[in-house]
Amino acid sequence: MSNAFESDLLARFLRYVAIDTMSDETAVETKSPSTEGQWELLHLLAKELGEMGVEDVEVVPEGVLIARLPSNTAKDVPTVAFMAHVDTADDVPGNGVKARVIESYGGGDIPLNSEVTLEVADNPELEKYIGQTLIVTDGTTLLGSDDKAGVAEIMSAVEYLIDNPQIEHGEIEVLFTTDEETGAGMDNFPYDKIRCQYCYTIDGGGRHVIESECFNAATVKVRFEGISYHLGMARGRLVNALTMAAFFINALPQAESPEATDGRYGYYCAQAIDGTATTTELTIYLRDFDLEVLNRRIEALKALALATEALYEGGRVSVDAKHVYYNMALIAEKKPFAMENLKQAGAELGFELSQELIRGGTDGARMANERNIPCPNIFTGGYNLHSVYEWAALPAMVDAARLVAKIAEVGAR
Ligand SMILES: [Zn+2]
Repeated sequence: MSNAFESDLLARFLRYVAIDTMSDETAVETKSPSTEGQWELLHLLAKELGEMGVEDVEVVPEGVLIARLPSNTAKDVPTVAFMAHVDTADDVPGNGVKARVIESYGGGDIPLNSEVTLEVADNPELEKYIGQTLIVTDGTTLLGSDDKAGVAEIMSAVEYLIDNPQIEHGEIEVLFTTDEETGAGMDNFPYDKIRCQYCYTIDGGGRHVIESECFNAATVKVRFEGISYHLGMARGRLVNALTMAAFFINALPQAESPEATDGRYGYYCAQAIDGTATTTELTIYLRDFDLEVLNRRIEALKALALATEALYEGGRVSVDAKHVYYNMALIAEKKPFAMENLKQAGAELGFELSQELIRGGTDGARMANERNIPCPNIFTGGYNLHSVYEWAALPAMVDAARLVAKIAEVGAR
């Protein structure tokens, strides 16, 4: 069964990474998706799904491909979706990818070009793939396994299920999205057009890692209003908004900053500041896995605002907090079957799945929040994402594709 996936997956992956789909954060306001290449890949995927025999395929104007494989079981089972994004990041060049396949990795460091080398010292995971197939970059661009490995794995799993009609499954929805890396991907997501009751993003990293928890996030705008005065006669009169903002930032707990925390600890992060002595606006990011703790941080900022006003008499401080996304575990608790099916599928394949925390958000979290659809994240088999050192392991990609097919099968029982 693995071999059936192997050649198909590799060919797909190489086909998809050759298409320039780097998204552009500066263009999302005016264009969706932000770059043409993303349309190109969506349309190629639509064509390939059609050739496989999938009849229900649509690329909607919002820049999302929605396809459905009909149920082949008499049982009434909920629709499951698998989601991946076609764009790549722009942290390093994401276009002009020239992937190189190492058919049988012999161990040791891998020179990517005359100057750049992928070192085992930094990538101990490489050693697990000796004798197996790896895909690397030419050292000048990222590879694009985030998330074209996910795209290829979903495509291969769908083809596998079509080729093996004896495997019973419910309705399967395939969702390929755009502009995930810009953060704008779910802004126009056509929620009303989808039917799934649970979903998986195939957008993780190393082999057998799954994720079902992400941060709760709030963005807090703190506005400081000073009292302006002619500087020559300012003594005892001027209240400087910038000075107030500097005090406020200094009062944030340094031990609860992104640079001082990991694991399950959340943080305050002063993210942007803009202003003059008269008015200054400060943006603070709050993150925590526990929603109550996140809300307590908002209250702490409000208390700090009052303390700042007391210290700088006449100055005004207002706090405007907005929740941006929530920990998708909140939904998963209410609808545990998504995780249960995932773990069951992993167990049946003999995978030792390890669960990690996402210190960020995902499109799956947006989906969970908007529509109460549980949406865990599954590994793709890519490593060093968003970097010229990115590499992907074909055996791990095969595992991801097998897992997708198995989840569909488990869901029909
Ligand atoms: Zn991704």
